[in-house]
Amino acid sequence: MPRGEVGDKRLCGWAKDGKYLVKTGYSLAVERFGSFVDMRPSSSFSTPKVVWNGIWKLNSTSKVKSFMWRDCGGALPTREDLFSQKCSSSPLCQICSLFPEIIEHCLLLCGWVRKLWSSSPFNLKVSNFFVSRFDVWFGDLLSIEMRRSGVSLELVAFACWEVWKARVFSSAPSVVPDWWIPPVPGEVKVNVDGSFLKDSFEAGVGIIARNSEGVVFAGYCGQVSATSGFMSEALAMKLALESLSNFPGLKVCFEIDCEELFRLVFGRMLKGGDWACGHILKEILVGAGSAQNVSFSLVRRASNQAADWLARSVVKGLVLKDWVSSPPPPLALILSLDLETALGRMGVKKGVG
Ligand SMILES: [Zn+2]
Repeated sequence: MPRGEVGDKRLCGWAKDGKYLVKTGYSLAVERFGSFVDMRPSSSFSTPKVVWNGIWKLNSTSKVKSFMWRDCGGALPTREDLFSQKCSSSPLCQICSLFPEIIEHCLLLCGWVRKLWSSSPFNLKVSNFFVSRFDVWFGDLLSIEMRRSGVSLELVAFACWEVWKARVFSSAPSVVPDWWIPPVPGEVKVNVDGSFLKDSFEAGVGIIARNSEGVVFAGYCGQVSATSGFMSEALAMKLALESLSNFPGLKVCFEIDCEELFRLVFGRMLKGGDWACGHILKEILVGAGSAQNVSFSLVRRASNQAADWLARSVVKGLVLKDWVSSPPPPLALILSLDLETALGRMGVKKGVG
């Protein structure tokens, strides 16, 4: 209702000129009651609108609802999906390695998940016979629930979300203890860190590779152009992965202390974090996916001090020359403390430094 001099006028809000036409009504009807077009490119199947409505009506957190939305839209980064984008070395399920990792396999058909669905409180039959598409399966559940009570859709959605998280982190490396742990003989451990000063927008990266004896094997530190701390961390990881090409065949364990980066990249959740970092994350994923003999760990800051010191030093403008062969005193101290602590914790009685 306009408050000014203009009189009331009936307008159709969905037509550009405000006039109602049959065509407008038809488009509106399709929009309201019709189907959404499936986001999966190879399929002409449309997810029924009842499914989308059902998801938004769930009495769940918005995180779970948007997860279900992505499931039904085929928008989850499964290994098959990543493989087709050359971001994963294999399309097979990371848990059973028997079937392509598509969303239906991930959430419903992989052996251990099937057991979950067939048990109480779900008692749902889940097999290749019954499941062709996740959205159809969930749509069936919506209509079944209308007829019989007992299966809570909220619980089903929550279980799907938990299954996905469990999958992602089942193969993901775990957080290691508070101290730096040397790699096993024959392997190299690479600690990676970024630093960012938000007052001056100066950023730096530190990358340091050590062998099983704690000896610095290679490293890099330098200033980078970043707009956030997260971006500096991501750039450090990207550079570290790129440097792998200099050491073909080397077994490497990368350690980072940025949980957000770790979750996004190694949990394959590329949506989120700093929006400006999308292309960097993609490059990390490609690098990690194509690298052989490489593993990743999320570590605590305390065990990533050498890389942290390097990154912070370059941000402060310290010029570090030949630090790999002759580390400056503060870095030498961190390195010897790292090794001393590790040996002490492992019960090796050997004085260092
Ligand atoms: Zn599987």
